[in-house]
Amino acid sequence: MKYRLILTYIVIILLAVTVVRMYMITAMSSALYNDNKVNMMTKINIIATDIADVPPSAIEKTMDEDIIMLSIGNNSRIIVTNTDAVVIYDNAENIYVDSSGKVRLSPMIMSGLCGESTYNKVESEDVITTAASVPIMKNGEVSGVVYIESSANEIGAILSATERRINYLTVLLCAIAILLSFIFAGLFTAPIEKLIKKIKGQKDSRKMKIEAKGSGEIGELIESFNELIEELESQEEKRTAFVSNASHELKTPLSSIKLICDSVIAAGDSAPPEMVAEFLQDMNEEVDRLTNIVNDLLDLTRMDAAKYNENKKFVTGNLKDIVRGVAGSLTKIAMQKGVRLSLNCNSDIFMIMEKNKIWEAFYNITDNAIKYTPYGGKVEMFLEKDLYNAIFTVSDTGIGISKDEISKIFDRFYRVDKARSRETGGTGLGLSIALSAVEMHGGHIDVESEEGTGSVFRIYLPLA
Ligand code: ADP
Repeated sequence: MKYRLILTYIVIILLAVTVVRMYMITAMSSALYNDNKVNMMTKINIIATDIADVPPSAIEKTMDEDIIMLSIGNNSRIIVTNTDAVVIYDNAENIYVDSSGKVRLSPMIMSGLCGESTYNKVESEDVITTAASVPIMKNGEVSGVVYIESSANEIGAILSATERRINYLTVLLCAIAILLSFIFAGLFTAPIEKLIKKIKGQKDSRKMKIEAKGSGEIGELIESFNELIEELESQEEKRTAFVSNASHELKTPLSSIKLICDSVIAAGDSAPPEMVAEFLQDMNEEVDRLTNIVNDLLDLTRMDAAKYNENKKFVTGNLKDIVRGVAGSLTKIAMQKGVRLSLNCNSDIFMIMEKNKIWEAFYNITDNAIKYTPYGGKVEMFLEKDLYNAIFTVSDTGIGISKDEISKIFDRFYRVDKARSRETGGTGLGLSIALSAVEMHGGHIDVESEEGTGSVFRIYLPLA
């Protein structure tokens, strides 16, 4: 990343410097030539005005005066023609070059004869020449042309010296910019490199947390990373607690079974048949308990896996049928416990769901309400819906749950009163299973409870 960043910086800097360099050279060249043009045109116009009214015999004298007055140097050639393009004045010192008396039909003289003023720059291999021509006007008519041709090598020299200086400056700027891009890229990528170094080969998530603070997106990245690590740590803690609880829960019935077996073996053939029968009965209960725990654990594991599985096997079902089914299968248990179970669900509520899981969630909540409600109490089931959710409510007049415990009852294997729960055949997994099933459907569970008065559990299932 660091080198990609440096490369990007360098490409941008080189592009910017090249554009600025080109712009500066072009601007400088056009300023110099513009200046040259203004200068030449001013002088040539003065000459054209001066000689307009002068008779041909006095032209040479006027020209000599003008050349001195206008400080026109030896490197300039001045030609004056009449209307027939015949040269009537030429300042060429070399007799072979002097074109006096000859017709000169160059394009610039021709345009002068047509009444146009022109300026031109001619560049050959190492000579730059600028030329200008203007018509000589007399009584509103063209009476001849003045043409000046000058060497512009000076401008060329200024331009190439400036270009050389700009080139040195460009190289220097590029070097500084490249150096700075190394420094800045290093500064930007340092927190990320730190992050990678911390993660690489690190097995202990607690040591992965980054102390460094960053700004902007890097700061956010560090913050999110630390949050992720915290989440992983809490998941890991929960997993360890779950494994240790599960082992403990499985060990308890196994120890009882082992104890019963040891007792039967110790008693040997002399054991009275009633005692053996009683032991077998106890053993059977412990095996049932083990089976319950294992089934609940399998259920939870399947739901944990389903959370991340996109292809859930959901079908359309009527929640009313499920609630009625649950009530039907718990009526006998409620009656045996002397608890009045009532049901309020009149309208059909269709939803896409995994029916078994919803059934299990509704069953566990209602079963708990009956389990934790003493003789003579009341458990009411409601099924209704609002705009967004189907709501299944179970309220009881049972023992209730204290404020401190409410947040823990959904934890796996958590039981408020271990002895009581064991008595009622609870595994401490009923609510965890219900919550997993509801969350699998995008829903949630609310609990209101008061110790000694009763509890209300509400399951919300989104309809869409
Ligand atoms: P269990 O198998 O012990 O019932 P759950 O996960 O179903 O396990 O419930 C966890 C704990 O929450 C229970 O041990 C019980 O203390 C408490 N609890 C659940 N439902 C109720 C209720 N309706 N009234 C009072 N306490 C409840």
